[in-house]
Amino acid sequence: MQYGVVVMSKNAKLFLTLIFGFFLGLAIKIVYEKNIFHAWSWPEAPVVLNCYGKALPEAVIVRAIDYWTVRGFPIAMYEFNPSKATCENEYLEGFIIIRRDAHLKNVNVLGQTARRTQLHWMRSAVIKLRPGTYNLDLLLEHELGHALGLGHVEIKGHIMHPMYMQIGSNFWFPE
Ligand SMILES: [Zn+2]
Repeated sequence: MQYGVVVMSKNAKLFLTLIFGFFLGLAIKIVYEKNIFHAWSWPEAPVVLNCYGKALPEAVIVRAIDYWTVRGFPIAMYEFNPSKATCENEYLEGFIIIRRDAHLKNVNVLGQTARRTQLHWMRSAVIKLRPGTYNLDLLLEHELGHALGLGHVEIKGHIMHPMYMQIGSNFWFPE
């Protein structure tokens, strides 16, 4: 009798594991299908706002902007020290806002970008960086890529690889 209970419990565990695996697989597929690499474009070159604060070095912002400008994704300008009132806006049409966020949901997430889109146009974007992560090479470049309308590419060395350890400084349009 007891044996039977143990077996059932093991089966139940296996069952739950399979169900979980199924939904995980499904979720990955949905995310993958949603991620057309260059799904959205800015109708006009956006302005980058540093609402992270002065702790984010200006050179890091300039480096990330230059990275995309030379690759055909223009940024109109950046404001290193925008007003507090400006930064209180959650989103701003035509702007990419960089923020500091100590409470990003998943502890493994270094940065996160939220986009507001309309049809195939970018309207606004918000880049949230975990405190201290701005020192990481290429992280802001990666997030800025999302803010410019790009998705992920799981090819090692690509700037838009979803895993930080696999990110490289290369960019190309995948097939
Ligand atoms: Zn990403």
